[in-house]
Amino acid sequence: MLIAIITLCRKENDSVIEPHGGLLINRIAEDTERKSLLEKAAWSPSITLTSWSLSDLYLIATGAFSPLTGFMKQADYVNVLKEMRLENGTIWSLPITLSVSKEMVETLSPGDTVSLKGEDGKIYGLLQVEEMYEYSKKAEAFFVYGTVDPDHPGVQKTLEKEDYNLAGPITLLTHPEKLRENFQTPAELRTTFEELGWKSIVAFQTRNPIHRAHEYLQKTALEIVDGLLIHPLVGDTKKDDIPAPIRMKSYDVLLKNYYPKDRVMLSVFPAAMRYAGPREAVFHSLVRKNFGCTHFIVGRDHAGVGDYYGTYDAQKIFEQFSKEELGIEILAFEHAFYCITCASMATAKTCPHEANFHIHLSGTKVREMLKNGQIPPKEFSRPEVIEVLMDEMNRTNEEK
Ligand code: ADP
Repeated sequence: MLIAIITLCRKENDSVIEPHGGLLINRIAEDTERKSLLEKAAWSPSITLTSWSLSDLYLIATGAFSPLTGFMKQADYVNVLKEMRLENGTIWSLPITLSVSKEMVETLSPGDTVSLKGEDGKIYGLLQVEEMYEYSKKAEAFFVYGTVDPDHPGVQKTLEKEDYNLAGPITLLTHPEKLRENFQTPAELRTTFEELGWKSIVAFQTRNPIHRAHEYLQKTALEIVDGLLIHPLVGDTKKDDIPAPIRMKSYDVLLKNYYPKDRVMLSVFPAAMRYAGPREAVFHSLVRKNFGCTHFIVGRDHAGVGDYYGTYDAQKIFEQFSKEELGIEILAFEHAFYCITCASMATAKTCPHEANFHIHLSGTKVREMLKNGQIPPKEFSRPEVIEVLMDEMNRTNEEK
C-alpha cells in the first residue's frame, strides 16, 4: 500500500519541472517564528540594503534563486566567477552577494545575526553571519561582464559596492510591498500553472515595452507549448530604460487586444538588471525554471547593452552545459524584423529579402523618437502600445 502511494506521488509530480538543484527554497518566516525573529532583529546590528540587495533578499527567500539559501560564501563566489558553477558543481552564472564596508565587518563575527533593513528603515530580513571576505571588484567585473569599462552599467554598479562580502543564510520577515506588487512567488506560479493544466510553459524575459519582434518570438514559441509567461524584469534598471509602471500599462493594453487570455500570463520578476549578456541569460533561464517554466526564450543580444557582447553570445554560452543539467529548454531565436516585401515578421531563416526591406529599430532609437514626440512605425510596435508610452511620457514631462 505504502509503495503504491509513493508511486502515485511521483506520478503526480512528473508534470512539474524540478527546481534548480532539486529543492524549491522557502526562507520566509511565518506567524510565531516571524514574531520572535522580529524581536530578535530589533536588538541585532543592522545593515541598510540597496534596492538591488533587497530584491536579491526577496528572490532568495521566495525560492526564485534556488538552490541558494543566502548570500554566497567565498567558495561558491569564486567558483561561480571562474567556472559558472557553485562549489558543489551546480550551474550558477552570477554572484549573489551582499557587500559591506570594512568598518562594518570589524564589528561582526561569524555566528552573529544581522538585521537587514530597506532604505525606508523597515526590517525585511535577517542574515546569519557565516563568513566575511574581501574580494576584488575589478576581478568580479571582468568575470561577470567580460569588461572592466566603468561605462558598462553593470561594471559601474560593481565598482560602487563596498569592499567586503557578508555571507550566510537569510530569512525574510516582511514582504517588500513594492516588490510584491504583481509578483507571484515560484510556489504560487507553480500552483497557478497546475491549476491551469499547463505542462509546458515558455518564459519571456524583458526590460522593455513589448514590440513586434518580441511578440513574434513569443507567439512562435506559443505554437509549441501550453502557455506563455510574460515575466518582465521590474527591479533596478539603468536610468534611460522605460520605468516599470509605464511598461506594465503597455503590457496590459497589448495583452488585452492581441493575446489569447487563456494561454498567457503576466507576472513580474522583481530582480535588478545586470546587463551581463551571456552570463545573465544563463541566470535568467535557471531562475525561470524555479518559477515552473519548461522553456525560455533567448533572442538577439539577450540582456546586452551597447556593443559589449556579440549578437548571439547569449545563445552560444549554453553550449557549455548539457540539457540535463540545465533542466530548462532554451528556445534560441535569430534577430527578428518586419519585412516589407514579405509583409510579415520574419528572420534571416525565413525571409529571402535584402536588409533594406527590413524594419527594425533599436531601443535607443525608439526612446529618442518618443522623447521627440515622433511615433515609431506600426511595423515596429503596435499603435496601442505607443499610445500608452506617449501618454505616460507627456504626463511625466508635465509633472516635472
Ligand atoms: P533584455 O534581454 O535586456 O531584457 P529586451 O527586453 O530587449 O532585452 O529583450 C527581451 C528578449 O527578446 C531577449 O531574449 C532578447 O534577446 C529578445 N529580442 C529583443 N529584440 C529582438 C529582435 N529584434 N529579434 C530577436 N530577439 C529579440
